[in-house]
Amino acid sequence: MNEIAHNLAQVQNKILAATERCGRASEEVTLLAVSKTKPASAIAEAVAAGQRAFGENYVQEGVDKIRYFAQIGEAALEWHFIGPLQSNKSRLVAEHFDWCHTVDRLRIATRLSEQRPAELAPLNVLIQINISDEQSKSGIALSELDALAADVATLPGLVLRGLMAIPAPEPDYEHQLAVCQKMADAFSSLKNRYPTVDTLSLGMTDDMDAAIAAGSTMVRIGTAIFGARDYSAR
Ligand SMILES: *Cc1c(COP(=O)(O)O)cnc(C)c1O
Repeated sequence: MNEIAHNLAQVQNKILAATERCGRASEEVTLLAVSKTKPASAIAEAVAAGQRAFGENYVQEGVDKIRYFAQIGEAALEWHFIGPLQSNKSRLVAEHFDWCHTVDRLRIATRLSEQRPAELAPLNVLIQINISDEQSKSGIALSELDALAADVATLPGLVLRGLMAIPAPEPDYEHQLAVCQKMADAFSSLKNRYPTVDTLSLGMTDDMDAAIAAGSTMVRIGTAIFGARDYSAR
């Protein structure tokens, strides 16, 4: 087994253990492999090991990888845009990605909807919540969610699938769980109102257990699968 396949198996085991601890089925939690800065060869190793869903943060880099895998006939992959999105890059996301996790304003949502090619399925979107209320972070406050969700749900080029958050680091599990629970409450109330909502993108390496206990359906893991990132070439 190569290193990436080995790492993937370990992460899958951690997800399994976390779901078992809280009495959930492991199939309820999707592993999103965050491949930003990593070469196509690393992604290909993960694909060979059975991984299907990949997360990218930089639009052009992600599009290059999507094109590459389409070209070699690897069509069954799912590409998630998880980075901050600027308006001038929205067209590339709308034209190439399957998901966008970082919708945090109507203007971006409207552009993504208008720019989504008619021959593709609508773009799956998550509304990003700034759950730890950090000044420097993107995402909206929970108090703004109902209004934005109502608008996003009307856009024909998008499907509202749920919520995403990047909680600030917390000192221990109990604090992590409290923050994740706030997200889970907002998610379940959204789910009750919109039948398309089924995805809570929450949990990274350090808070995965708490996120899964609270009800996350998608954890985003990069370094534990692909190793440390090298940003020097960017
Ligand atoms: C980079 C990134 C991750 C993965 O982080 P790792 O520490 O490498 O596991 C998850 N979510 C988002 C939004 C990211 O930008």
